[in-house]
Amino acid sequence: MSVLVVGTVAFDSIETPFGSAERILGGSASYFALAASFFTPVRIVGVIGQDFPEEHLDLFSQRGIDLEGIKRERGDTFHWRGRYHEDINVRDTLELHLNVLSGFVPQLPDRYRDAEYVFLGNIDPVMQMEVLNQIRRMRLVVCDTMDHWIRESSTELSKVLQRIEMLVINDSEARLLSGYNNIVRAARAILKMGPKVVLIKRGEYGVLQFSDSSVFATPAYPLEEVFDPTGAGDSFAGGFLGQLARSGDQSQRGIRRAIVYGCVVASFTVEDFGVKRLTTASLPEIEERYQRFVQLTDFHT
Ligand code: AMP
Repeated sequence: MSVLVVGTVAFDSIETPFGSAERILGGSASYFALAASFFTPVRIVGVIGQDFPEEHLDLFSQRGIDLEGIKRERGDTFHWRGRYHEDINVRDTLELHLNVLSGFVPQLPDRYRDAEYVFLGNIDPVMQMEVLNQIRRMRLVVCDTMDHWIRESSTELSKVLQRIEMLVINDSEARLLSGYNNIVRAARAILKMGPKVVLIKRGEYGVLQFSDSSVFATPAYPLEEVFDPTGAGDSFAGGFLGQLARSGDQSQRGIRRAIVYGCVVASFTVEDFGVKRLTTASLPEIEERYQRFVQLTDFHT
């Protein structure tokens, strides 16, 4: 069972209170793919420029990630520059260069079209819809978005929301999308827009899951040091959907377990800059931290 992701493959320049990094590998699809690849084969759909180094592609290949859906175009790769505040939950976008991403029309290789598990990473909802339209068979579609698309492309976004099963979104974005400040009301309003399940990411405070019949809350894995939160959300989504694909269990119990796997994978990502920690972590380490998470949240015994 494999997972298909469409999203950005990027250069990120990042400043956190603990240091900085220039033009390192980033992007929603990169984090998602590396995170999900612990659990299941992954296929990426995205675009890179001529400046994108082979060593990054090799890194994906070494993790068994299928790159046939990555197109190399004339021009530069998408570049994002961000700075985190002392309160690491707050970040500013300092620069955003779409470069080859502007005008990109995703083209799925034929063998990607029976995708089953799909993650529509944070890109233009028009591109997300383009991918959905090319898929013949799908079992589960999970979508992410951000404030920019909620503000600028609400009509296109609402069409995408009607075609997905699950939405992964930050708490501030959930408020913006719904118009409600209270997060429970916000989630209920979003459920009426199409998705059957809404997963609300709350940074170091964890994740809330809402559906018509259930609510589930989990903390983030408590860490003493968070170096770089970039990609935590996409790593959460990768761990979550990777585990759902691995288990095939979409019951409420299976979804809860997958949410915890998502939190565990994200906790590795934030321990170092960029994707670094995702490339050194192993599945046994992830399973061990998952067991610790079970103890952390156990109050029955
Ligand atoms: P996250 O921290 O999980 O929300 O996502 C971080 C990633 O999002 C970074 O690696 C950036 O390259 C990417 N990113 C930042 N801004 C955008 C944008 N406007 N569209 C798509 N991807 C973006």
